[in-house]
Amino acid sequence: MTYVQRVLEDLKQRNPGEKEFHQAATEILLTLEPVINAHPEYQKAALLERFTEPERTVLFRVPWVDDNGNVHVNKGYRVQFNSAIGPYKGGLRFHPSVNLSVIKFLGLEQILKNSLTGLPIGGGKGGSDFDPKGKSDREIMAFCQSFMTELFRHIGADTDVPAGDIGVGAREVGYLFGQYKRIRNEHVGVLTGRGLSYGGSLMRKEATGYGLVYMTAEAMKQRGETFEGKVTVISGSGNVAIYACEKAQELGAKVVAMYDSNGYIYDPNGIKLDVIKQIKEVERGRIKEYADRVAGATYSEGCKGIWTIPCEVALPCATQNEIDEESAKSLIANGVRYVGEGANMPSTLEAISAFQNANVIFLPAKAANAGGVATSALEMAQSSGRLFWSAEEVDAKLKTIMVNIYHNVDKAAKKYGYEGNYVMGANIAGFEKVAEAMMAHGIV
Ligand code: NDP
Repeated sequence: MTYVQRVLEDLKQRNPGEKEFHQAATEILLTLEPVINAHPEYQKAALLERFTEPERTVLFRVPWVDDNGNVHVNKGYRVQFNSAIGPYKGGLRFHPSVNLSVIKFLGLEQILKNSLTGLPIGGGKGGSDFDPKGKSDREIMAFCQSFMTELFRHIGADTDVPAGDIGVGAREVGYLFGQYKRIRNEHVGVLTGRGLSYGGSLMRKEATGYGLVYMTAEAMKQRGETFEGKVTVISGSGNVAIYACEKAQELGAKVVAMYDSNGYIYDPNGIKLDVIKQIKEVERGRIKEYADRVAGATYSEGCKGIWTIPCEVALPCATQNEIDEESAKSLIANGVRYVGEGANMPSTLEAISAFQNANVIFLPAKAANAGGVATSALEMAQSSGRLFWSAEEVDAKLKTIMVNIYHNVDKAAKKYGYEGNYVMGANIAGFEKVAEAMMAHGIV
């Protein structure tokens, strides 16, 4: 058994039942074998054992009162995974499916993603099993205030800087920030994704979706292609999906389908994004209403069917494991050529193998969706420098970062003899810098 395999086996035994964490660790560690073989000193320093064990895990109770006076208790999490190259950085997710395994898989991914941006940010992630759907603004505020009343003691502008993720958007970040400021009596860049009136950055909202499309476009450019006229399917209709759609359409793509957690819409004439924005961003409604408002569009219950729609480009932007092997095979059979992951770990390990075996250009999440956290790091830089950059400046920096990530990942894959394998390229390129910093710090 190799060192990597032994660490993976130990990890599974010592973290029983954490299936998402096992999945992410398996994907990452197995691809690091060539780097580990080239550095025998890593094994001596138990580098992988330390890399896969969070530096700190905070679990806490979040009590709150609903509009009818009933008391609820949710679980709160913050996993401070790795601070070798900078303060912990990573979003907060509020969704009923959140558990320790989900937060740890996201945190582990985040370490490498943040490293890939080239910016000085470590990896962390947090959240709660709280479901914001159907809650009043007052209930959301009560929950966020209670959550921050514990979280505040563990975070700080130079320690750990959370942001949004599923279920945590501008409204939630505002309430969380307000409570932090009230308790600490300081107005600092302790959260990113803040509103423009209190220290946020232009383009943060758009950054993950735009960044995904910038990277996919760069992969196309290397092959003499563009988005122009390419039929595209995007899953989700949240923050990442909406802005991926916006940029893809701007570059000429024909986006024909999107979904929310109930079902998907298919619009062969091309999605009218203003209608989606009105339903999802303004009314906080359900995507099925799109089919009632736009002639020629259809709605189908359930999400999986979206992957049977023929397309050349698939951008999964909703949640983990939304594309399994069967869906991957159906996409391949229907002619998909580019898959760019906007969500974290949206493809199962089997789906990734299917794409790679079929020579589909597969851009993994930790590279392809790094634009959000990169722009968060730009927000941190603006906060500490008391600066405010224009949308054009931030967008230009975002584009440069995404293009650089693509080429670094491409080069890392080539360097170890795996040309075109961007999963290996991303893991290796992200890991090399973190490993070097961890070795420099001694056994900590
Ligand atoms: P949002 O909460 O804004 O949107 C999530 C979307 O996915 C919604 O349309 C939601 O549907 C749908 N969804 C969530 N869970 C499921 C599910 N189990 N099955 C089907 N659909 C589901 O989140 P974001 O857009 O911010 O995040 C989407 C993904 O992108 C996540 O994986 C996140 O980790 C990742 N990501 C986000 C970044 C960011 O900057 N926001 C940065 C990097 C990665 P419904 O409306 O019904 O809830």
